[in-house]
Amino acid sequence: MVKACAEHQLAMVPQGGNTGLVGGGVPRMGRREVVVSLSRMNRVLDVDGANSTITVEAGCTLAAVQAAAHDVDRLFPLSLASEGTCQIGGNLACNAGGVQVLRYGNMRELTLGIEAVLPDGRVWNGLRGLRKDNTGYDLKQLFIGSEGTLGIITAAVLKLLPMPRSRAVAWVALASPVAAIALLGLMRARAAERLSAFEVIGEAAFDLVVQHMPGVFSPLAERAPWYALIELGDSDPAGGVKVLLEDILGSHLRSV
Ligand SMILES: Cc1cc2nc3c(=O)[nH]c(=O)nc-3n(C[C@H](O)[C@H](O)[C@H](O)COP(=O)(O)OP(=O)(O)OC[C@H]3O[C@@H](n4cnc5c(N)ncnc54)[C@H](O)[C@@H]3O)c2cc1C
Repeated sequence: MVKACAEHQLAMVPQGGNTGLVGGGVPRMGRREVVVSLSRMNRVLDVDGANSTITVEAGCTLAAVQAAAHDVDRLFPLSLASEGTCQIGGNLACNAGGVQVLRYGNMRELTLGIEAVLPDGRVWNGLRGLRKDNTGYDLKQLFIGSEGTLGIITAAVLKLLPMPRSRAVAWVALASPVAAIALLGLMRARAAERLSAFEVIGEAAFDLVVQHMPGVFSPLAERAPWYALIELGDSDPAGGVKVLLEDILGSHLRSV
């Protein structure tokens, strides 16, 4: 298909779940552009428990990849609100981050290999699961974050991680973004790799959620200009993350 489009000088717009927020998967009005949907390339090709990797076609939804990882007691840690619809190809093309990016990184950090169709129709096969791969240029990184401009990603080898067995979550009222950064610094210093999420939310955005989402209410009696949703996680069920989180927040309260 790509060969035919190249022959006829037709522009192509790869499209995954079409949940991207900058319109990169949408053709422009009045232009001759072919939308290439990856939705039917949605097979999980391989799950390698020993190497902790999963190989999937680019049209797999993120939720399907998370579920396939879960089936072998592993975590695919990219998580975002559009995960039921967005696809791995789109996640790669956007270098998506999600709510656990602090701990696990963006798609750049979560990807070991990629297969892509180049603009002239040739297939570039970089589907490798080797972790210490120091051979030559790391060409997959060109496709990650390219928004579909360099080729169409058709498959990827992704890293799987151990499942968190214990979790603790806190909702914290804050005076300002500066206070949020100070608390993030303390969390990082004390909880290190156990800090899995730190999402800062302004009062106006939070009020909209409370107003419009049924069943959502503010857990705090008083209002604050800013809030942080913090999560610690540990692969050890007796990891003590709840005690640690309370201890860090307690020492922070005493210091302000
Ligand atoms: C409710 C919501 C919450 C979100 N939260 C986050 C978040 O927390 N963090 C975050 O980083 N992003 C977030 N996003 C944006 C997020 O990046 C996208 O949802 C997702 O990564 C895009 O995937 P998609 O399959 O929908 O891609 P699309 O929207 O279909 O496409 C996005 C771009 O990728 C290209 N593309 C798609 N598939 C391929 C392919 N196979 N090969 C080459 N190029 C391709 C398209 O041409 C386009 O440029 C959110 C979006 C929504 C709607």
